[in-house]
Amino acid sequence: AKAAGKDRHELFDPRLRREQAERIRTVERLRVALEADEFTVHYQPIVALRSGASVGFEALVRWTPPGQDPIGPDKFIPAAEDSGLIVGLGEWVLRRACAEAAVWHRRYGTTIAVNVSPRQLAEPYFADRVRRALADSDLPAHALTVEITEGVLVRSGAHAELALTHLAELRADGVRVAIDDFGTGYSSLAYLRDLPIDILKIDKSFMPDDPGDAQQAALVRAVVDLARSLNLTTVAEGVETAHHAELLRTLGCDRGQGWLFGRPGPPTAVSIRLAAETTV
Ligand code: C2E
Ligand code: CA
Ligand code: CA
Ligand code: CA
Repeated sequence: AKAAGKDRHELFDPRLRREQAERIRTVERLRVALEADEFTVHYQPIVALRSGASVGFEALVRWTPPGQDPIGPDKFIPAAEDSGLIVGLGEWVLRRACAEAAVWHRRYGTTIAVNVSPRQLAEPYFADRVRRALADSDLPAHALTVEITEGVLVRSGAHAELALTHLAELRADGVRVAIDDFGTGYSSLAYLRDLPIDILKIDKSFMPDDPGDAQQAALVRAVVDLARSLNLTTVAEGVETAHHAELLRTLGCDRGQGWLFGRPGPPTAVSIRLAAETTV
């Protein structure tokens, strides 16, 4: 009775109703956009901190409605997630990224990381779809990383079970699994040991905003040490300054991603970057 009362209240709250209407409009536009091919994938380099080489790229979706500036994923992923549209959009991103990355992989050995939403992981045929994308693009499984957030695995229930099954199957094929935004969720540290993961991406909020702050640095060290003790590859996100990179190198973090190394860009920018790196 209490829940019903709350629902009724929300239904008549004008602000919530406006937001709901806005959501529905966004979802309608996204549906059309998917049909009309208005999405693209941008790629951001993931750099080996020791050598400076771009060892991989993260695929980040962009939406450009005709005649408008590109819209960032933070503006539409939540609506796509709520509505279930993320399943189709996510698969489109996966297939596009695998196809584009296959060329870079053949030539330079680079890997590709693709974000996978909880809704996708809970789909009954998710692992098969990934296998199909790999086969169709001729990309070897070991060149693909799927990035997931920890919440989806730590939760219990049928969806988490299914997600774990998919990940185990994909890892058996050689696909890498990364935990995204590590440290922002309700991280249960003991759980980390048992999760089917290979890579830990340290959230950008851990990057010190003050180079002299020993406490901030100690926190980064704690996370890097934790990941290393679990034999996970560490990737720091939000590497914006030379100081960040220096600190991470000192702490033994494996890889970095951020504006210091390069912003997300179109596939042509990736080809140019990779060609330039091999000639120097
Ligand atoms: P994320 O997976 O954590 O991706 C990293 C985000 O950090 C990207 O934002 C990237 O542009 C931004 N970033 C990179 N370097 C820096 C830096 O040095 N400083 C700062 N402040 N930010 C940096 P973007 O492209 O706007 O994507 C936002 C989020 O949208 C992603 O966060 C991811 O959760 C989601 N997303 C993007 N593409 C997809 C997709 O294809 N599928 C799904 N399910 N989610 C996606
Ligand atoms: Ca990510
Ligand atoms: Ca992240
Ligand atoms: Ca994020």
